[in-house]
Amino acid sequence: MASLGCAGLGVGLGLWPWRQLLARAGAAFAVHEIAEGVFAFRGADEMMTAANEGAIANLGFVVGADAVAVVDSGGSAVEGRKLLDAVRAVTRKPIRYLINTHMHPDHIFGNAVFRDAGAAIVGHRNLPAALEARGSFYLRRFREQIGAAMMEGVEIVPPSMLVDDRLELDLGGRLLGLRAWAAAHTDNDLTVFDRNMRTLFAGDLVFLGHLPTLDGSLLGWMRQLPELAGMEATSVVAGHGPVPAEWPGALKGEQRYFEALAGDLRKAIAAGVPLAEAVRTAAQAERGNWDLFDEYNERNATAAYAELEWE
Ligand SMILES: [Zn+2]
Repeated sequence: MASLGCAGLGVGLGLWPWRQLLARAGAAFAVHEIAEGVFAFRGADEMMTAANEGAIANLGFVVGADAVAVVDSGGSAVEGRKLLDAVRAVTRKPIRYLINTHMHPDHIFGNAVFRDAGAAIVGHRNLPAALEARGSFYLRRFREQIGAAMMEGVEIVPPSMLVDDRLELDLGGRLLGLRAWAAAHTDNDLTVFDRNMRTLFAGDLVFLGHLPTLDGSLLGWMRQLPELAGMEATSVVAGHGPVPAEWPGALKGEQRYFEALAGDLRKAIAAGVPLAEAVRTAAQAERGNWDLFDEYNERNATAAYAELEWE
């Protein structure tokens, strides 16, 4: 994949002296120190393909005095190994935790790499059941989408530590606050808050540029936005889009999209417009504001229609 330079990063946070680190192997895999001891990889705003090695989600890691926590493992074992190399280019400290922000393949397909490196895998209390239900489908479907070669080494590895509601992880003088959310992007969304630098890893509860995708509950997502916005972060690593971004300003785009989507669908449902027709027109006013709008909007609208019909 193409190297993503610093030019595309740094929304609203121009002051930090950037340190760019390139992993040694294969295609360039650039990780940036976005705050002291907090590193992020910026995924491509694309669908997962063999060419991009599944590297479409933003990933990260936090280095404490004693240990490292990695946030999401990437969309292939190839990407997972590049992330591991990027950690090793920064520190030899043990990787004590791999935190999965949710079940989607672009965030978990590199899990086996970090399990093999000795990390405990941490996830939302609902993640095991979600992987049980979806895992074999993901393995089949992405064999078709990214090819057998890129699926090599990919395993569905469930979490070994669960977050019921909140959990604090200590990396040595550095606390990470983990929080399990009610159904929104999925039913297993987890956020990671670095208290030292007040950086929030939001997983796919925050999308920037890339259209939000809905695999949980639109109403649940909308309902939890004020609480999410209330988190005392100064910057956020979204699941997709520029890193880092300003907090809570990063929520504005998706909030506007959700309101458009829900508003249009409620009108259609009230007027008796059938699903197949309603999903073609819902939120079309938002089309110019997002990448991958045509790829995901109808699917979002279909899921949301079913939910709103029962309001
Ligand atoms: Zn996702």
